[in-house]
Amino acid sequence: MSSTIQDFLSTQSKKSGFALDSREFADFLSENDSLKALRNEFHYPKMKTLPQVDLSLVNPEEECIYMCGNSLGLMPKATKEIMDRQFEKWAGMGVFGHTEGELPWAHCDECTLDGIAPLVGAEPSEVAMMNGLTVNLHILLTSFYKPTEKRHKILLESRAFPSDHYAIESQIRLKGFDPATSMLCLDPREGEDCLRTEDILDVLEREGDSIAVVAFSGIQYYTGQLFDMPTITAAAHRKGCLVGWDLAHAFANVPIHLDQWDVDFACWCTYKYGSSGAGGMAGLYVNKRFAKDERVRMLGWWSHKMSTRFLMSNQLELDEGAAGFRISNPPMMLAVGLMGFLEVYKKTSIEQLRAKSINLTGYFEHLVRHHLGADSPHRKKSSKVSCSIMTPSDPAQRGCQLSLKFNIDIAKVYQELVKRGVACDKRYPNVIRATPVHFYNNYTDVWRFVQTLVDVVLHLEEEHAFNGSLN
Ligand SMILES: *Cc1c(COP(=O)(O)O)cnc(C)c1O
Repeated sequence: MSSTIQDFLSTQSKKSGFALDSREFADFLSENDSLKALRNEFHYPKMKTLPQVDLSLVNPEEECIYMCGNSLGLMPKATKEIMDRQFEKWAGMGVFGHTEGELPWAHCDECTLDGIAPLVGAEPSEVAMMNGLTVNLHILLTSFYKPTEKRHKILLESRAFPSDHYAIESQIRLKGFDPATSMLCLDPREGEDCLRTEDILDVLEREGDSIAVVAFSGIQYYTGQLFDMPTITAAAHRKGCLVGWDLAHAFANVPIHLDQWDVDFACWCTYKYGSSGAGGMAGLYVNKRFAKDERVRMLGWWSHKMSTRFLMSNQLELDEGAAGFRISNPPMMLAVGLMGFLEVYKKTSIEQLRAKSINLTGYFEHLVRHHLGADSPHRKKSSKVSCSIMTPSDPAQRGCQLSLKFNIDIAKVYQELVKRGVACDKRYPNVIRATPVHFYNNYTDVWRFVQTLVDVVLHLEEEHAFNGSLN
């Protein structure tokens, strides 16, 4: 474990007089969290409103244990208020709403840019908000992936998110190339879960001349590993490759500096850490060095400059920057989700959030190791169940999430967690991803999660539920 986190925890423990693994200590940390007021900006679900909870096992009025913001962020209270106002506008003025009011619908995507662009370290003109993440990845690759006989490969992680894998595979086929020879999927070393930066740099050095595009995720969805984006981008550029990052799990989780890192393009969804609602409006970044290059792309009327768009002349005047990659008119209801999130984000900064997150996830790591680590002296002697953490221990190489890898099939564990009001994420056979989100989770949530996990494991062991499934 990182020594700065260890220092933080032991200093706070001494200051409070509470033992490191006690509930009192968790409550003390929650109470002294300078961002604690942000939780109240969200609707935090109660035990009784979660489906599949066994109300005989929990207090129905208590808050649930929400550790799934890596999958779907909680709902900002502001979102409903903004949505209500837009519904009223629609009801009251119909088509005039395109140009009137706090969120003129024809420009509702642009209304989000001043808030969103700093979160990826970009200028507003380099960002467009539209579509879903995978659609944006297709739009970007359509323009930026130009394979030649000599340089035709796309480099990605072997365990890339399936949607990214399929998008890249199909883009290679669409350009008349063969995924078997053009799709370069990088595996971790034997027996390891995460990729080492040195191995990524190595493959760039060896194969860089044949790589057209490096299309990695900023944070690996499965392991929670945060890649060294500036180092990888610079190494790929030295070999003449273009670099595009999928920031699905990095956006609003960790600070991102796309301009400073000189990234070529990027895309991300906003419904995970960005709390924009299921299927929310996704983002696209195109470095300003391509602002006027008019490369071939998929076009629509929203690619046309605003000033002459409605002349309907069929003479395209391409908009500059990321705006020129837009296709359709923007969906008001999805822009509302972003505006609601930005209302909350206004009250903090990604640097403050990150500082909290490093401690919160460090505390989470400490409790997991303490109670469930294979070599922990505190693990119940008779227990055969233990877990290891796939996510790097170094805070610089991870965001909020930890991926816990068990030595058992976690199907029953997951089921029992859900019954006790836990929202987390399972990847069968043996991985649970759990995420304390800096915006709304606190140390008490983390303590309750680990405590519930330990209770469930002991309960199942007493019932001999793991017989035959231990490996
Ligand atoms: C969440 C996620 C997606 C989801 O794609 P959508 O197009 O938004 O459905 C894609 N890729 C990665 C890496 C993700 O984490």
